[in-house]
Amino acid sequence: MYKIQQNCLKKEFEKYQQEFEKKALEVLNSGCYILGDEVLNFEKEFADFLSVRYCVGVASGSDALWIAFKLLGIGKGDEVLVQANAYFASITGITANGGTPVFVEPDEYYQIDVSKLEEKVTKNTKAVLVVHLYGHTAKMDDILSFCKKHNLYLIEDCAQSHGAEYNGQMLGTFGDVGCFSFYPSKNLGAFGDAGAIVTNNQQLAQNFKIFRNYGSEKRYHHKIIGTNSRLDELQAGLLRVRLKHLNEINTQRCSIAARYNKEIHNDKLILPKERPCSKSVWHQYVIRSDKRNELMEYLSRGGIDTLIHYPIPPYLSEAYSYLGHKSGDYPITEKYSSEVLSIPIYSELTNDEQSYIIKLLNEF
Ligand SMILES: *Cc1c(COP(=O)(O)O)cnc(C)c1O
Repeated sequence: MYKIQQNCLKKEFEKYQQEFEKKALEVLNSGCYILGDEVLNFEKEFADFLSVRYCVGVASGSDALWIAFKLLGIGKGDEVLVQANAYFASITGITANGGTPVFVEPDEYYQIDVSKLEEKVTKNTKAVLVVHLYGHTAKMDDILSFCKKHNLYLIEDCAQSHGAEYNGQMLGTFGDVGCFSFYPSKNLGAFGDAGAIVTNNQQLAQNFKIFRNYGSEKRYHHKIIGTNSRLDELQAGLLRVRLKHLNEINTQRCSIAARYNKEIHNDKLILPKERPCSKSVWHQYVIRSDKRNELMEYLSRGGIDTLIHYPIPPYLSEAYSYLGHKSGDYPITEKYSSEVLSIPIYSELTNDEQSYIIKLLNEF
């Protein structure tokens, strides 16, 4: 019988094990562990990969979001439009600075529904946070014109969409700031916590760099009250190795998704779709069923692990009860959260394992 994990980080590590080990030893032997050449080179290489001017490595995706909102000056009294089915951590960047998330229902691709943005605008609206969920793409041209029209900042949460494109342009480069997480299970994952902020704005990039390092540009000269949120040398070095293989990793994910799309045939299941003019990187392959819990049980009995992204929308989480939302406020989001199921997808999932997953789904 098969035993298939929802994601297997170890197999992805083993594929490039020698390169990772070589790099890790190189960094350990270098005697430099914070803000050295590995971080500088990674920042340059990742910026080049995205075709964006500046990249600043930070400690996590959550920090990337928090710092982005903070240095854009979005805080108390300001409202940020964000999709209601986002990940919890997407929202903390807004609220950590005292800002208020204003939730918008997702569209059929699980991304923020552009047609529902207009009705949410008030005089306090300052920004749109687009969360490219599951590696898919929001409708960026319409979102850009909406932001222009209302003079709003656009921030992209790209924690699940490294390398995804809309109209041939990389996600993270459309808005004022793009925020990335390199949490180990992301498409571009480190071996610990790590993140990055990208922007084409030189002044902002400079401020991000100062802020992440106690607010100092020159040692012991503190211009602003910053924090310690640095990407470290070891993670940066290992990320450089993985970045070289990111296209290959994403291509493998895409071909698994293509196979699922083609070979899963079951009226009880709703399969994910790719938005026209976009390239998804399939961070998750999310199916839907109104018998989701039964389906999860059934797959588990068959040796297939699945996950739910996410069982509780952020506005219904205990932490955000102060926002005063209640069940029923966002029916599409709630429907999705009761029906979604993420089945295994990762670059080292074998053909036989894929066939077995497809077979079980078709027999459900
Ligand atoms: C993972 C993730 C984050 C948080 O990143 P961390 O590096 O874990 O802090 C934020 N937003 C989304 C959409 C994520 O998937």
